Amino acid sequence: MYDIQSVRSDFPILSREVNGKPLVYLDNGASAQKPQVVIDAVTRGYAEEYSNVHRGLHYLSNLATEKYEGVRGTVARFLGAASEDEIILNSGTTEGINMVAYGWAMPRMEAGDEIVLSIMEHHANIVPWHFLRERQGVVIKWVDVEPDGSLDPQKMIDAIGPKTKLVGITHMSNVLGTVVDVKAICTAARDKGVPVLVDGSQAAVHMSVNVADIGCDFYAVTGHKLYGPSGSGAIYVRKDRMAEMRPFMGGGDMIRDVTRDTVTWNDPPMMFEAGTPGIVQTIGLGVALDYMTGLGMENIAAHEAKVRDYARDRFKGLNWLQVQGDAPGKGAIFSLSIEGAGHAHDISTVLDKKGVAVRAGSHCAMPLMDAMGINATCRASFGLYNTEAEVDVLIDALELCHDLFA
Ligand code: PLP
Repeated sequence: MYDIQSVRSDFPILSREVNGKPLVYLDNGASAQKPQVVIDAVTRGYAEEYSNVHRGLHYLSNLATEKYEGVRGTVARFLGAASEDEIILNSGTTEGINMVAYGWAMPRMEAGDEIVLSIMEHHANIVPWHFLRERQGVVIKWVDVEPDGSLDPQKMIDAIGPKTKLVGITHMSNVLGTVVDVKAICTAARDKGVPVLVDGSQAAVHMSVNVADIGCDFYAVTGHKLYGPSGSGAIYVRKDRMAEMRPFMGGGDMIRDVTRDTVTWNDPPMMFEAGTPGIVQTIGLGVALDYMTGLGMENIAAHEAKVRDYARDRFKGLNWLQVQGDAPGKGAIFSLSIEGAGHAHDISTVLDKKGVAVRAGSHCAMPLMDAMGINATCRASFGLYNTEAEVDVLIDALELCHDLFA
């Protein structure tokens, strides 16, 4: 049984006030709050257990290394990877996708080769491919979403042609909450011999993920959305793909031997982790994943579905409120606007006065906003600690905006 009050009490920040009102934190899509166990792990990591990793012959370095390396296995289990050797630890999704762009795609893509992307990708899964477009003449093929914000997997599959070298797809849209049938895309792409990179930044927060079942080649996640510290993250790279990847960054830790004239690499995945990593952040990520697993991903998903359904029903009763996208099975992410109520920034400012934290803007998804013919929305994105009562507070504040501006 999911005891929401007990879950909320795990997050100290949720009991604070903002602008004299109880905080209603609905900006989880941007970054999630941290449970006390993660805060404690970070504090302990610095206060009692800190040292550099992988290079020490002393107690603290061995301890930090053991804890840091333990997270590789935690991430592997969390994502359903066959082995922890398929997990590269990093600073987040942006680094993970850039690593695929520089390390896997760049050496094997030529002018005219194609990458297929959905229009609802986050800039983190767009801009690295623009680098390849600008520098190597790679062609980006875009697949649109349907009017309800869903993505027809068949359209992604049909976009794969003889020149396609990679498919990039988000598992869950950070703007619309749309959940994509990535397994169908991966299955068909594999038949065509084309690898698939899945951006799991949002999905892995809200549902149980199994990369082996999905059949993807790359799956990127980011720690700060997973209730872990910022500056932590990981990417799953299937073993055969990792063997094809060249190192993206050079430096300490990723080498075996360096001479004046030569360099040889450490074994994968270490060869993709150059320099001193985010040691304590990564240890905190491991604790955050254990925390989520302890609650149970199915329980988290069921709780969030209940809050989503409540919000969706209440939004439907407000004829002055526009909600972008209503794909079946969508997650608890709502992009909102009020007709005639000015800019999303004005709405979010009023909401903030009521203690409600949302994000306003284009959500690092300008091509999607362009396709939808809008330039900004207010995004209310829910997490494992949000409640129906908070939906009511949000709606009261939106009603105030409607009265003030519309
Ligand atoms: N992909 C999606 C779908 C996101 O929502 C985000 C963050 O907002 C990212 C990628 C980028 O994550 P990060 O900035 O942590 O690297």
